[in-house]
Amino acid sequence: MVNFASVKEKVGLAEVKTLLGLTMLEGENNIGKRVWRGKCPVCSGGGPRSLVITEDVGFYCFASKTGGDQLALASHVKGIDVKSAAEFLNGSETPKSEPKTADQLTNGGMKPLDYLQAKHEKVQAIISEETALTMGVGYAAKGIMRGTVAVPVHDLSGVLQGYVGLENPLRVAQSVYKSQVIFNAHRVGDTVHLMPTVQDVLQLADQGLDGVCFLTETVQPEQMKMLAEWLFATNKVVVF
Ligand SMILES: [Zn+2]
Repeated sequence: MVNFASVKEKVGLAEVKTLLGLTMLEGENNIGKRVWRGKCPVCSGGGPRSLVITEDVGFYCFASKTGGDQLALASHVKGIDVKSAAEFLNGSETPKSEPKTADQLTNGGMKPLDYLQAKHEKVQAIISEETALTMGVGYAAKGIMRGTVAVPVHDLSGVLQGYVGLENPLRVAQSVYKSQVIFNAHRVGDTVHLMPTVQDVLQLADQGLDGVCFLTETVQPEQMKMLAEWLFATNKVVVF
């Protein structure tokens, strides 16, 4: 029998968030606790900030109007009862029980596609090989992004979430919530250029400049809010 209290002591909310692979914006509340906001992955109809996790406090899902501690969070997101959630979190340090597959999520993120070709002519037509290697961009001759130049998408902390293809409309692999992404945000310095497309960001990187973009064609007010919060939280300046 798993001891709930010892699991809660062992695995904090930040770690549970990572274990569940949640992509969220990090901020801080007025008493200095870290706060993460993002779309609840299990509740449809919730907005892009429907799920809120507050360090040392707990979580709240505005879509389902439920909340609680880290056990309740794992239970909510995985759709399992609290006892199973405790077992999941208790076993989180012993990966032996987890079956491995090629695209297994690791550390809450996706395993990089190791077969992308940075040297391919379709890549070279856009950016230098060096930039392609730095940014993890490459042509996919097989797999989920086959036939396209695949570009990795990370969350704000740099955890790989999936890939987008450079066709129009953008193809997406793995669970990339396009409206939740500020592309390239994890990599940039203090001055950031807001660009129209992924390709523009890549070409800017080729010139040694830092750019970010949204992945959606139209930008919703929530996305601008997300950008503003990120700029505020990280002390960056954006150049349009
Ligand atoms: Zn929810």
